[in-house]
Amino acid sequence: MPDPILQTRGLDAHYGDFQALYGVDIEVGEGEVLAIIGANGAGKTTLMRSITGLLRNGPGQVAYHGQDISRLRADEVAARGLAMVPEGRQLFPSLSVRENLMIGAQVARSGPWDLAAVYKLFPILEERKDQASTSLSGGQQQMVAIGRALMANPDLILFDEISLGLAPIIIKDIYTALPGIIGEGMSAIIVEQDITKALSVSRRVYCLQEGRISLEGMSASVSREDISRAYFGIE
Ligand code: ATP
Repeated sequence: MPDPILQTRGLDAHYGDFQALYGVDIEVGEGEVLAIIGANGAGKTTLMRSITGLLRNGPGQVAYHGQDISRLRADEVAARGLAMVPEGRQLFPSLSVRENLMIGAQVARSGPWDLAAVYKLFPILEERKDQASTSLSGGQQQMVAIGRALMANPDLILFDEISLGLAPIIIKDIYTALPGIIGEGMSAIIVEQDITKALSVSRRVYCLQEGRISLEGMSASVSREDISRAYFGIE
């Protein structure tokens, strides 16, 4: 197991009186691709939002590069090299493709990703760069969301259900591009409801069930039975 780039320890999350996460412990190794699976409402998005500072955590619950980031704001977390491709993409509808991509560059970290590199990865975005992001297809909008995260030159990138609502052919394209996107050394967390997809691209996997980690294992060796039990809670 390589040194962890990210660690959560006893991570809880609440929405008012409702508790969505209970003492979640996860680790992502340097350069590792981790999958997080779980049914609707299991807490996957809440976990991503807690890690990236969009939800407030208790002190000491999230460490990044060995430093406590639990109390940092989302922009401060992003500046440290942690980027998210959010569920539902969340582009700015009034901005062009290029302007949406430039939002990611605001954290001004150096690295291989800039507009030219994103356009090379997704040439269609260069063709559409001056169009409103809303005029793009769902798959192209997802490319913008991925490109925006890359523009921040992150060390760790979180993908929250990037295949949701996309046609299978587009999903295949995006997953084919993933190894090139993640690249040498970059770590990633992939949140997916499609278990086969999640296992095929990751080294390790955690399953969430009703706000708790119900399974942790190597993606290549977890059994279907263990996953069913962890996913649905059936014995
Ligand atoms: P999905 O696949 O549906 O996105 P998920 O695993 O990402 O599911 P979360 O979105 O993290 O799950 O939701 C976890 C729990 O927290 C669910 O019971 C959900 O109803 C609840 N929840 C999520 N967001 C809020 C909110 N803003 N206010 C109140 N409860 C919320």
